[in-house]
Amino acid sequence: MELLNIKDLDLENKKVFIRCDFNVPMDEHSNISDDRRIRSAIATINYCLDQKCAVILASHLGRPKGEVVEKFSLAPVARRLNHLLKRDVVIAKDVVGEDAIAKAKALKSGEVLLLENLRYEPGETNNDEELSKKLASMAEYYVNDAFGVSHRAHSSVEGITKFFDNKHKAAGFLLSKEIQFFGKIIENPVRPFAAIVGGSKVSGKLEALVNLLPKVDKIFIGGGMAFTFLKQLGYDIGASLVEDDLLGEAQKIMDEAKKLGVKFYLPVDVIAAEKFEADSVIKIVTAQEIPHEWMGLDIGPATVRLYREGLNDVQTVLWNGPMGVYEMDRFARGSSKIANFVADSYATTVVGGGDTADLVQRVGLGEEMTFISTGGGASLELLEGKVLPGVAQLIKE
Ligand code: AMP
Repeated sequence: MELLNIKDLDLENKKVFIRCDFNVPMDEHSNISDDRRIRSAIATINYCLDQKCAVILASHLGRPKGEVVEKFSLAPVARRLNHLLKRDVVIAKDVVGEDAIAKAKALKSGEVLLLENLRYEPGETNNDEELSKKLASMAEYYVNDAFGVSHRAHSSVEGITKFFDNKHKAAGFLLSKEIQFFGKIIENPVRPFAAIVGGSKVSGKLEALVNLLPKVDKIFIGGGMAFTFLKQLGYDIGASLVEDDLLGEAQKIMDEAKKLGVKFYLPVDVIAAEKFEADSVIKIVTAQEIPHEWMGLDIGPATVRLYREGLNDVQTVLWNGPMGVYEMDRFARGSSKIANFVADSYATTVVGGGDTADLVQRVGLGEEMTFISTGGGASLELLEGKVLPGVAQLIKE
């Protein structure tokens, strides 16, 4: 899939609207605690500035649900942009109100304007056409560089693309990179190709599992979702997370894996806890001997060894979803051990965004992976084989 390329646009001295994903985590004092998403957009912004563009930036932050909520203001993002771009960034008081429209109109070549939080407008998440039209009216060109929200049909992501023809819109460098990377990995991986799939539930990753099965050589299951498979195999899983309504689907996946010759790995032991608490009493038990009422909250040491063996000859690894409740130190070991092993391997390693990206950063291995996606939900939808709504209108004909 080839996307409309920003380099094919005749941007010189023009006004360009860039949809970014500046939805960064902040601490209680509104300090940005991780600015990777802002830094990831700098290449596209600088490219436009080098073309002497007047640049209008827009993003959402958190979930203000269509109302102006001070703590979700993009002002801290404007300050960080100031610093990263080494130039003044003006922030509008609103999104498409008098102030934003006036500032966008007056914006000159080389100047940068940041609109206020797009989700202050109730129309944004409803893909409201009027809002799309107002946003589009601010600029001559539209660039989407917000991979993290491209799976959402929102006004500034999907609706707005309809107001620009193919000569006036494109994907930014970040969006292009993400789409190309996932496309290449899934369609043309160097083999053996393994997927490590974890996280809380089967339901959240079911479509991704089904889509990945015919493409991979091995699948390693971890996290809460493992227990639905283990239960289907007849194990007593105690009080572990389980989706009884998906036992049949779990069987189908295992049958399909067998039919396709895909090596399907499940945990052979787990860290079982008496309670879902950080300081709970814990035991390492085999998958066959999870005590009644206890819950498995991480993969155990034998599973880590087994998975390492299985991953040893792999050339491409795609990882989506933690192996355990990594937010609590006691249940983070499985994920951390697998992260270290994957990071040390010579395989191409691709980490789906969200929790997996977070855990890889926490253990300090961010730089060791080949590629870490900036979008959790969006990367999952790519793994499901979907065309993202924000990308559909940017595909080259
Ligand atoms: P997901 O959003 O589906 O990728 O799930 C990520 C969440 O799964 C994390 O917050 C983990 O704490 C949680 N998780 C991982 N393993 C388990 C487990 N064995 N039991 C319950 N929750 C888990």
